[in-house]
Amino acid sequence: MCGIVAYIGKKQACPILLGGLHRLEYRGYDSAGVALLNGSLKVFKTKGKVSDLDELLEGLDVTSTIGIAHTRWATHGEPNDVNAHPHYSSTEKMAIIHNGIIENYNVLKQELQQRGYVFRSDTDTEVLMYLIEDIMTHEKQALAEAVRTHNHQMQYLIRQ
Ligand code: GLU
Repeated sequence: MCGIVAYIGKKQACPILLGGLHRLEYRGYDSAGVALLNGSLKVFKTKGKVSDLDELLEGLDVTSTIGIAHTRWATHGEPNDVNAHPHYSSTEKMAIIHNGIIENYNVLKQELQQRGYVFRSDTDTEVLMYLIEDIMTHEKQALAEAVRTHNHQMQYLIRQ
């Protein structure tokens, strides 16, 4: 049982996100990470405890008022730094965090690899990021619309 925290507002996001992750620690997890938007999008993540993420961030510029954070309980891919969430899109302009399992991730992964996407992790989650990115690029859809479309496409692909 992993956890997700998100913040958008006028305050500094990072302390709020890390505080949220600490509150979710009772649920159990194997790694933790955060994505912060401030001009560019930065992802910081590590295997281990939220306190390890605290240490990783010490002294870094984490100025941002928009962010997402995650504690992972690995289902696809071993618990390590690379498989920890968030996962960047291939352009690194977006990042995704996700709880749960993509049952048909293998067929989706093969399809996306044929389209040229290079997977960095062993997670099922990464297919969601590239599928959304692919829809935005090729069907010229905005993010919210692409998220809705990818739900339909996932169902289509599972039937093939
Ligand atoms: N299935 C995803 C993974 O293995 C998410 C696991 C979770 O819910 O934390 O990365």
